[in-house]
Amino acid sequence: MTETTTSSGGHPSLPMQGVPQPRHEEVLNLPRVHISTHPVMAHKMTALRDKNTQPPEFYRLVKEIGALLAYEATATLALELIEIVTPMSPMIGQRLAGGIGVTPILRAGLGLAEGFREVIPEVQIWHLGLRRDEQTLQAMEYYNQLPHRVDLQVCYAVDPMLATGGSAIDAINVLKRRGIPRLSYMGIIAAPYGLLKLSQTHPDIDIYIAALDESLNDVGYILPGLGDAGDRQFGTF
Ligand code: URA
Repeated sequence: MTETTTSSGGHPSLPMQGVPQPRHEEVLNLPRVHISTHPVMAHKMTALRDKNTQPPEFYRLVKEIGALLAYEATATLALELIEIVTPMSPMIGQRLAGGIGVTPILRAGLGLAEGFREVIPEVQIWHLGLRRDEQTLQAMEYYNQLPHRVDLQVCYAVDPMLATGGSAIDAINVLKRRGIPRLSYMGIIAAPYGLLKLSQTHPDIDIYIAALDESLNDVGYILPGLGDAGDRQFGTF
């Protein structure tokens, strides 16, 4: 029987084996990549990564990190002027111009989307189901319930782990086809490999992450990472 191999000549169940990966330092200063430097984020990230953190606490932390990231990722949104009347006098106030979309990549992106929603409750949530094939690491779309009418100024694809970059790249492709004027990606941890791939494939988007880790292991998990972000949120070990 012939042994199947991946494009890099590795074993199919070890898709990243032998694949060259950029070093952490090589991707630190990519354009439009924002890595949080907030001390509260660093504090929460340590609790999140700890293997003793159980699913209820893990999910709560993902939501809190999602809210902190949303605050950083929305700092340059467009505003419009609006006349209001306070109890004291009329005044010109400001409000966000145009809708804001959040696309959680199912299922691991759900906690981040919830956190985002706590910062801006008016966001539209556009669910997108992408599953990665464990052997090829290619992303496959299995659920797409995106609205027909697009009235967004920006949409954020959210997924906690930017590992090989496959799902993030595909999600941005799907959103680009909807004609949204501005797109961003928001995630918790990136590996240098996936970060470089996403940034090179979609140089026109902003990428917001809480941490940049060292590398991917042979099966495409981030090191040191936090394990499986979906299983740890939803208790499915
Ligand atoms: N997905 C995860 O949940 N964790 C990783 O480390 C990589 C992909």
